[in-house]
Amino acid sequence: MQNRSVISRRRYVAAKEQQLLTLGDIAPSWDERLKQLPVSKWSLKWLKWYFDIASRETCIVGEAFGQSSAYWNECAECRTFSRQFPRHYKALSYKELERDVQRFVGHWNEKHRDVENNRRCLRWFDSFVRSDGYIRTLQ
Ligand SMILES: [Zn+2]
Repeated sequence: MQNRSVISRRRYVAAKEQQLLTLGDIAPSWDERLKQLPVSKWSLKWLKWYFDIASRETCIVGEAFGQSSAYWNECAECRTFSRQFPRHYKALSYKELERDVQRFVGHWNEKHRDVENNRRCLRWFDSFVRSDGYIRTLQ
């Protein structure tokens, strides 16, 4: 009896883990860009991404919220992440950037899953197509 409940508990945990969102789910264009790092500093690509990562709407956090800066006044942690990412990026501290991005993804799964669930498909698709086309032009 006890064994069975341990197994079902494990199954429950495994199922829950499978549902965790990844960066690819919440900010697909940044997921693609981070995979291309390191990028040489002051290159055209580096500069463009720097402007994006430093902007509230187009940074990693902003993309997760659907190209919106609504989080700025609503979630202090997201605001902190949004401030931290461009600092790491500018300092070429890509390992620290990656580490904080993973923290942000954890925070998202904990606090903002509802945003993901409620997000309108059209909006997501629109932002994905735009960033996808944009990545292609820069490559
Ligand atoms: Zn938050």
